[in-house]
Amino acid sequence: MPGHFVKILVVVLCATTVAVAYGGTWATMCQSSNRVRGCDFHGCGHFNARRGTRLHKGVDIVCRDGSTVYAPFTGNLQGISRPYSKTNAINDGVKLSGSGFCVKMFYIKPDRYYGEIQKGERLGTMLQMQSVYGGITSHLHVQSCDHSIDPTPNV
Ligand code: ZN
Repeated sequence: MPGHFVKILVVVLCATTVAVAYGGTWATMCQSSNRVRGCDFHGCGHFNARRGTRLHKGVDIVCRDGSTVYAPFTGNLQGISRPYSKTNAINDGVKLSGSGFCVKMFYIKPDRYYGEIQKGERLGTMLQMQSVYGGITSHLHVQSCDHSIDPTPNV
């Protein structure tokens, strides 16, 4: 193999190794790292966790109430997306599409619902989850727009 090709290959392999070592491809969404909620009195935070007769079709990222929330990837905010039909203190969120992904992010108050946003840019604020589910590990919920893809490898 020509020398320059070998060098390029080595660089690509190193970059891949770094990406694997430091987790997914998305930016940190809350606090210092993307930590998946474990299990608490109210349930577990991993993809496909049981919710009574249903399955949890997203992943929960630990986030203290009132924390700043950041965009996981560069894309376009595409309007409000709410988790519940009823009204409560955490029934807010936004849809974000771009960079080959489409997600809905719940339990946050976005600064705005439309427009371009960069990876790692401030997106909004974590709502007061403790006021609705006392004792829960407060978290934002991230799910793919079609509900079937597990976002966990990206976080
Ligand atoms: Zn969730």
